[in-house]
Amino acid sequence: MTFEILNILEPVLDSVFEKFYQSMLSNRDFAVFFKDDDHIRSLIEKQKMHFLDSLNDSEEELKARYSRLGEIHYNLRLPYVDFFAAMGMLEEGLLLSIASHHDSKDLMRTAFKFFRLIRAYTAKGYLNKTLEADSADIDRYLENVHRSSEIDTQFATERIIWLKNLTFAIQIENRAAAPSFQLPTQVMDSIQSYAPEDPDLVRYINDTIARIEINAANVFYFLEKKNYEEVLTLYRELMQIYKLSLMLTNVITIAASSAIISSLSKDDLTGMLGRNSLNDIIEREFSLATASGYEISLIMMDLDHFKNVNDTYGHAAGDEVLKTTSKFVHDNIRATDFSFRMGGEEFLIILKGASLKVASRQAELIRKEIEEHAFKYDGKTFRITASFGVSTYFSPFQMGLQSMLKQVDLKLYESKRNGRNRVTW
Ligand code: GH3
Ligand code: MG
Ligand code: MG
Repeated sequence: MTFEILNILEPVLDSVFEKFYQSMLSNRDFAVFFKDDDHIRSLIEKQKMHFLDSLNDSEEELKARYSRLGEIHYNLRLPYVDFFAAMGMLEEGLLLSIASHHDSKDLMRTAFKFFRLIRAYTAKGYLNKTLEADSADIDRYLENVHRSSEIDTQFATERIIWLKNLTFAIQIENRAAAPSFQLPTQVMDSIQSYAPEDPDLVRYINDTIARIEINAANVFYFLEKKNYEEVLTLYRELMQIYKLSLMLTNVITIAASSAIISSLSKDDLTGMLGRNSLNDIIEREFSLATASGYEISLIMMDLDHFKNVNDTYGHAAGDEVLKTTSKFVHDNIRATDFSFRMGGEEFLIILKGASLKVASRQAELIRKEIEEHAFKYDGKTFRITASFGVSTYFSPFQMGLQSMLKQVDLKLYESKRNGRNRVTW
C-alpha cells in the first residue's frame, strides 16, 4: 500500500508548514541549532519536499527513507527528543486540518499509520547510529581499561561486557541473544559488602539495578512491536543510568579500598604497608579476583647498591632516597593497588586486574622515573637505580603467597644478575 490518499492534503500543507516554521522560530530550544531564520526556512522547505515525495513511497521505501533521515539527524547531533517534538507539531497540524476539512475515516487511519511509521523509522535510524557509536565506545573502553588510572577494572570490565552483549542483542533485535537482565550478582554482592554501612546507599544501588533490569526488559518488549521511538528513549535512559551506576561502583570500590588501606598500619618512613598485612590483603584480593575473573600481578622492586648511598652520603640521605622512591611507586599505581615495604629497600606492589604486559609497563615507568631523578642531599647530587621482577597470577589462585613471593624474587634476582636497573618478567 502507499499513502497516496494523503495527497489530498497538499493544499493545506503550505499553511501547516508555515505554522510549523513559526513555532520553530519561536522555540528557543530549536533555534540554537540553526544559523538564522533562512536556515530554518530552507530546512523546513526541504522537509516539506521530503514529506510530499514520501506520500508516494511504498511502506518499505518509507521506512528506508526515514531511517536515513534519523541517521542524518544523529550525524547533525540534533537531539532526537527535539526532533520528535517538531514532528508532533507537524502531525498535530495535519491531523487537525484533516479533521476540519475532510470526513474520511480511511484518511485519518492512513494518516495515523503514516506518522507512526515516520516516527518509528526515524527513531530506528537514530538508534542504529547510537548503537554503532556505543559499541565502538565499549570496545575502545575494553581495550584501554588496563591503562586507566581512575577506573577500578575489576567490577567495571565485567559490567561493560554485560552492556556490550546487551547492545549487540538490541542491534540484531534478538531477545534470545541478550544477556540475563540480572546484573552479575557476585559483582553486585561484593559492591554491597564493601559499601559502607549505609542503608540509603544500599537502597540506591538496588533501585539502580532494578531500573536497569526493567529498562532492558522493556527495550525488547518494544523492539518486538517495532516501536523504535520507545526503544530509543528507553535505551538512552538505560545508558544514562548505567553510566551513573558504573561511576558509583568506582567511587565505592575506591572508597572501600582506601578505607581498608587506611585501617592498616604503615611504615613510618615510606608510608607503605608493612609485610605483616600482606597475608590478609592477598586473601581478600584473591577472592575478589576469583569472583570477577581478573588477574593479579606482583612487582618486586629492590634499589641497586643502596648500601653505597648509606656509606657515601650517610644513613639520613639513604632515608630520603627511600622516601622519594616510594613516592615514585605511589604515583605510578592506582588508588586501589597496594604497595608494601618488605624490608630495607625492597618493595612489593600488587596490581589488580593488570596483565603481565601492563604490570611490566608500570614497573618500567617506575624504573625510568628513579633512573632519571637527581637526588640531592646536603648540597650533593647523586643518582640511583632499581631492579624489578614481575609475575602474574590467574584464578584459580593455586600457588600460596610464599611460593608467589619466591617466584617474583627469582625474577628480581635475574634483573640483578643481568646488570641491575632493569625489569624482568
Ligand atoms: P643490591 O643492588 O644487590 O640490592 O645491593 P644493595 O647494596 O642495595 O643491597 P644490600 O642488601 O647489600 O644492602 C641494603 C642496604 O639497605 C643495607 C642497609 O643498611 C640498608 N637499609 C635497610 N633499611 C634501611 C633504612 O631504613 N634506611 C637506610 N638509610 N638504609 C637502610
Ligand atoms: Mg638493594
Ligand atoms: Mg635488598
